[in-house]
Amino acid sequence: MSITKVPKKVVTLAYGCQMSERDADTLTEISSQKGYVRSQELEQADLIIVNTCCVRESAENKILGKIGELKHLKEANPQLKIAISGCMVQQPGALERLRKRAPHVDIWAGTHNIHEFQRLLEEAEEKGKVAEVWEKPRETQESVLLAAKGKLKVYVNISYGCNNFCTYCIVPHVRGRERSRQPEEILAEIRALVETGCREVTLLGQNVNSYGQDLDRAYDFADLLEDVDSIDGLWRVRFMTSHPKDLSDKLIETIAAGTHLCEHIHLPFQAGSDEILKGMNRKYTREYYLSRIAQIKAIIPQVSLTTDIIVGFPGETEEDFEQTLALIRQVKYSQAFTFMYSKRSGTPAAQMAEQIPLDIKKRRLQQLITVQNAQSLAWRQEMIGKTYEVLVEGPSKSNPDRLTGRTRGYELVVFPGEPQLIGTLVQVLIQDANSWTLFGECRADRH
Ligand code: SAH
Ligand code: SF4
Repeated sequence: MSITKVPKKVVTLAYGCQMSERDADTLTEISSQKGYVRSQELEQADLIIVNTCCVRESAENKILGKIGELKHLKEANPQLKIAISGCMVQQPGALERLRKRAPHVDIWAGTHNIHEFQRLLEEAEEKGKVAEVWEKPRETQESVLLAAKGKLKVYVNISYGCNNFCTYCIVPHVRGRERSRQPEEILAEIRALVETGCREVTLLGQNVNSYGQDLDRAYDFADLLEDVDSIDGLWRVRFMTSHPKDLSDKLIETIAAGTHLCEHIHLPFQAGSDEILKGMNRKYTREYYLSRIAQIKAIIPQVSLTTDIIVGFPGETEEDFEQTLALIRQVKYSQAFTFMYSKRSGTPAAQMAEQIPLDIKKRRLQQLITVQNAQSLAWRQEMIGKTYEVLVEGPSKSNPDRLTGRTRGYELVVFPGEPQLIGTLVQVLIQDANSWTLFGECRADRH
């Protein structure tokens, strides 16, 4: 009689930004090298990894709720290992608080030591609980691992950390100062990913536009984009996030001249009033931001713009808020990510007088969403009757008998089609739209 060994299963949950998703992929890959097989079923897991986010209080509360829920699984299966990693754990003083609150967790790791996860996992398997948070990064965490083998779309880090210290933001406190990866490392990683079937990369950095400033040679983000654009077998290149203060003309021209560089720029403005921008330490004015937008539209006429906006920053008056609304009406974004200001302990804005009451923040957010939804709808209605290139990603979540993918401008498209089209580029004629989705019909053959 032969006994088949059942492989152990890992379930990974990622909260927050693309950076967190990418880190979660790396952690999953490290676990699979230790013999764990990826799974979606929490109840069947032998290892659960939660990569956390602390950018807003609402994210933290959601994650704390999830970690609490995992206690029952641990009680039902004491062999289960639970690992919590990422930004929440990295906050100064957070580890002690979290450990008390969630004693059922086996492994705690910060943002700077995720590449040490194999050792942490081994220690937890052999000896029991382990917690390690490095105060600072010890070396650039080169992505030695191909975290996302075989995926159609992949995130690739080009830099870590942030030097901007926007006064509301916890990111520089939990991700450290900006470190650019060496171009050769990035290019080699992307080439290797393309070999495994990747067709679209999104280059990730808190501020991709300042990429290279800390390198030992003159090589900037535009240079990197050009080099990535020329990689054989890659169809699409995206990047985020662009900080308006560092968006150079050279970069705009490079995007316009590129072949695979998508005409989509995510350019957060955060607030429409100079007073608030100053309080946020964003280092640009409304006028400067709008001049960058004008330059982008002049050089890349077919560009899709998206943005991030915060309402209710300390001291925000109705007039300030009106300026935010006026700005989104003027720019005409394809999509906006809208947030209520959330106090983050350790950041300067948390200490500011004139914190805005929750009911006002909620009302402003609602108003903002209403205005942007109308803008998003108008943007998409303009696309009706035209044909766009779509990278087919898979069945639509809401309509599983239809396919879904994105335009080069990052608009989501749903259309009927055969599953063989998944992973190819198709031309889709847009026939209908709502604020979030385009609906159409596939026009041409596969790539
Ligand atoms: N580096 C990127 C993204 C940072 S976090 C950038 O600079 O754009 C993503 C978004 O979260 C930010 O753009 C901002 O809009 C929002 N955000 C960050 N801190 C926040 C806070 N304390 N409260 C509310 N929103 C916040
Ligand atoms: Fe945060 Fe500002 Fe850095 Fe973005 S640029 S990560 S908002 S500090």
